[in-house]
Amino acid sequence: MTFQDFNFKDTLNQAINEAGFKEPSPVQADAIPLILEGHDLIGQAQTGTGKTAAFGLPVIQQMVGNKGVEALVIVPTRELAMQVSDELFRFGKTAGLKTATVYGGTPYNKQIERINQASIIVATPGRLQDLLQSKRVTINPSFVILDEADEMLDMGFLDEIKNIFTFLPEERQTLMFSATMPKQIKVLAEKILKSPKSVTITKSERTNTDIAQLFYVVADYERDDALLRLIDYKNPNKCIIFCRMKKEVDRLSSYMTAQGFKVASLHGDMEQKQREHTIRSFKQGLVEIFIATDVAARGLDVNDVSHVFNYHIPFDSESYVHRIGRTGRAGNKGEAITLVSPNELRTIKRIEKDVGTVMVSEVIPTRQEVQVRKDGDLLAKVANTEIKASGKEMVKTLQHDMDIVTIAHLLATIVQEEVDVKGKDIIGLGTEEVKALIERAKNFKGGDRNGGRGRSRNRSRSGGGGNRNGGNRDRGGRTGERSGSRESRNGGGNRGSRNGGGNRDRG
Ligand code: ADP
Ligand code: MG
Repeated sequence: MTFQDFNFKDTLNQAINEAGFKEPSPVQADAIPLILEGHDLIGQAQTGTGKTAAFGLPVIQQMVGNKGVEALVIVPTRELAMQVSDELFRFGKTAGLKTATVYGGTPYNKQIERINQASIIVATPGRLQDLLQSKRVTINPSFVILDEADEMLDMGFLDEIKNIFTFLPEERQTLMFSATMPKQIKVLAEKILKSPKSVTITKSERTNTDIAQLFYVVADYERDDALLRLIDYKNPNKCIIFCRMKKEVDRLSSYMTAQGFKVASLHGDMEQKQREHTIRSFKQGLVEIFIATDVAARGLDVNDVSHVFNYHIPFDSESYVHRIGRTGRAGNKGEAITLVSPNELRTIKRIEKDVGTVMVSEVIPTRQEVQVRKDGDLLAKVANTEIKASGKEMVKTLQHDMDIVTIAHLLATIVQEEVDVKGKDIIGLGTEEVKALIERAKNFKGGDRNGGRGRSRNRSRSGGGGNRNGGNRDRGGRTGERSGSRESRNGGGNRGSRNGGGNRDRG
């Protein structure tokens, strides 16, 4: 299917071309024809699947322009309002449609002026209700879209939304989009939609396969070390680190800054100006690491985020879906990495079940492993670098006092220092330990009696020699029989033969 199949007007096709869209995403392919036919619609698809264009394009296609506010989009947060209006502006500008963004914390007069000139408005519920109720603004939209409806309900906007609809015309096309479909959403849909069609992108498509989902089991006090090591190892392009609380965002931001990273943080207490500035600098690549709470990062659309880190696993599955949806966008590959303590393994299992996904357990690379990788990168760089005249000059100068081998050794030492990997060698739990914990969590209803610090202290230290099997590395089980039987069941690779005998005795 191509965008040509929708028979959009020329101005719209031009906008689609300019945006660089080649073919419709699944939710677009399904939703656009139904919306063009004039149906109300309820659409469910994961974040990053192109829902904005799924409603934006067919609505703009049907708009006539020059008759006040014709389309109203309601979104949960200011950031999202700005993003969605940017996207709609792109699609509408070739047809001369004006877009206005409406959210709290900014002066009324300018906003009202813009609304009065606009064909499309994108609004957050609070400010919109405010404007409608006080009669400062009267609108008659033919198209009303609730975007990220589940977020709005999560944020407690149900009353505002119901109230807003009392000010809207009966005669309208209403569309509702959501990443998840809890019962409350269905109830709301029955109230505001008329015989809606529904579009659901099936589970396998919904669990974005472009996102690799990994988890690492660490003791609570190891989280910072684990994060640093993984960032060192994964070398992310841009990454977002999610925390549960503002306090954690602040602490981690200071910590990461002290470690020499360019960090920006985002949470609900920040001034609007500051938030916009922060998001822009992240988009432009001026900061490499973004540290945020769930609420602050709702709907955040930054295209080239390579990694999402969950510093703590979120409490609910829907947050998990939203968080990891910040990476793997627009067809790019991404990795979502979750740090859990042993007693959070059950949360992993619950989320996997809720979301219909699988998170893969991996072991945090040792300092040595990261060092070996980085040294390898350096060697490759040496092999691929072209010699510059200035480099020759420097060696010539050095040769007055030293022989060439000494010079080479010194230079190698200097460049190696640049990529020095810090921290303790082993962080977190090994493969067999995690397996044992998962088994035990299944067997004992009471949960993880063996979780926590005690275990990691007892762990056998098998770093250094022989154990370079990356993810499959076994850092040794604790008791002989248990790890023995696990090995025979899992039987794979080098695990049994390399580590089995030696480490088991130490357990
Ligand atoms: P969602 O609302 O489902 O989270 P968005 O509408 O924000 O997703 O879209 C995510 C990103 O994908 C945006 O940057 C958007 O411009 C881009 N995008 C949407 N549809 C397409 C398409 N058909 N082809 C290429 N990129 C697209
Ligand atoms: Mg969206």
